[in-house]
Amino acid sequence: MEQIETAGSICPECFRPIKAIKYVENGKVYMKKECGDHGIFTNLVSKDVDHYRQMEDFFEVDRAKPKSYLTDTEKNCPLDCGLCPSHKQDTCLAVVEVTDRCDMGCAYCFASSSMDDSSDPDMDTIRRMFETVKKCSNDPTCVQISGGEPTLRDDLPEIIKMGHEIGLSHIELNTNGSRIASDQDYFDEIVSAGIDAIYLGFDGVSDDVYFQRTGKKLFDIKAEVINKCEKAGIGVVLVPLVAKDYNLHEVGKILKFASSNVPTVRGVHFQPVFFSGRSPPGKDGRVTILELLNNIEDQTEGQLKVGNFTPALMATAHCGATCMTLVEDDGSFIPLTNISQGSSSSAFDVANKTKKSIMGRWKGSSKKESSSCCGELTTLQKVPQESSCCRSSGGWADFIEMSKNRYLTISTMAFQDVWSYEKERVENCCIHVVTQDGRFVPFCNYNLSNCNGEYLYRELPSSRIEVNRPVSKIEVERNV
Ligand code: SF4
Ligand code: SF4
Ligand SMILES: [Zn+2]
Repeated sequence: MEQIETAGSICPECFRPIKAIKYVENGKVYMKKECGDHGIFTNLVSKDVDHYRQMEDFFEVDRAKPKSYLTDTEKNCPLDCGLCPSHKQDTCLAVVEVTDRCDMGCAYCFASSSMDDSSDPDMDTIRRMFETVKKCSNDPTCVQISGGEPTLRDDLPEIIKMGHEIGLSHIELNTNGSRIASDQDYFDEIVSAGIDAIYLGFDGVSDDVYFQRTGKKLFDIKAEVINKCEKAGIGVVLVPLVAKDYNLHEVGKILKFASSNVPTVRGVHFQPVFFSGRSPPGKDGRVTILELLNNIEDQTEGQLKVGNFTPALMATAHCGATCMTLVEDDGSFIPLTNISQGSSSSAFDVANKTKKSIMGRWKGSSKKESSSCCGELTTLQKVPQESSCCRSSGGWADFIEMSKNRYLTISTMAFQDVWSYEKERVENCCIHVVTQDGRFVPFCNYNLSNCNGEYLYRELPSSRIEVNRPVSKIEVERNV
């Protein structure tokens, strides 16, 4: 065992800030921490220390300071959100939850949503939340309306309109798609209100997958949402939750489906399961970023390789990975990014770059900002030789033409839970949930729940609290 780093973490039972070490054993990276009251906890971080270090070597970002601090630094991360003066990064995406009700009852749900015991924030409260985003973060302002399931609210179109009147730059909708698929009038109202993009829960291309999580067959519903968005010119990002023994075997098929639906589908954002809120008993489904990338490489038969994924320009090198691709007419991928070329010096800070990405590449084709390949190349400053114009039939001009409409951004984010928590990641986070009383809480902190099922920030009726069982070293090894 070789210790390679220390980290700030928390106790999975009492949330107390505690120190952790990261160490390497048999080529794998683990985190280990000890609470004086609750014992030792160990968690697998990466199956391959070489890939872990390669991601760190690549990661080089500028950061924009938050525009405003709304709390004081008193007790240390994660107890002072926020943002407190120790926070190091401005907001790139503000998440505004307009309900905690949801009609799906998923087995995995970090928000523990259900149809019970809820009262939605009223319009005045949502107005204040939007105004806080406008006032306390730098322009442009990107908001994701989330929940719960936001389309359970009949007044969602008015909420979207209000957001634009307040001057928010970009408003996207996080949804399971059920109402959009079945209610054309409602969808038309959302479009007229000015929704900019749909962030669609999309765990697979077979009903088996959806049935396992929800007890419902949902694939046709997802396909219908994409059909409606295509007609309306609204861009869609597919968002698969990924877990072992659930849908890890289907990531290649998800990408194939996405590539056959560009330019309406603008991105696929894989979210490996994390153990906050409601999850099935036993915690055997965890998937590290590298495991996901290995599966993408295998299941796309090497069209997309692990090395095509570079660290997402987010909080740290270990929050996520991204691969930008072009999709050829036959649905195959031309990856535009490659980690072997080293870090690209960033012309913009992280928050700005991410906002540009959300507002440009993830918008619908008819509303998309003109985004030429040359523009992207200036940002990336590199395209793998084997991936450049020589692979597309008509050379450079065709390549540029294709780049206008056939981008697909494939990304993943490893959200944290009490087992994997690292202070350095949350204090640099740019994805912030807006609370009803007007604070900004980094997404991973907002959703943290401990071994007893209690959230640190999210308010939840006690009837919905479920117990999270500790992950022992033995359980970790079983996942390796
Ligand atoms: S996550 Fe940011 S805002 Fe929250 S306590 Fe840590 S530094 Fe402060
Ligand atoms: S939400 Fe969590 S995983 Fe994503 S950037 Fe923030 S700290 Fe990292
Ligand atoms: Zn403890």
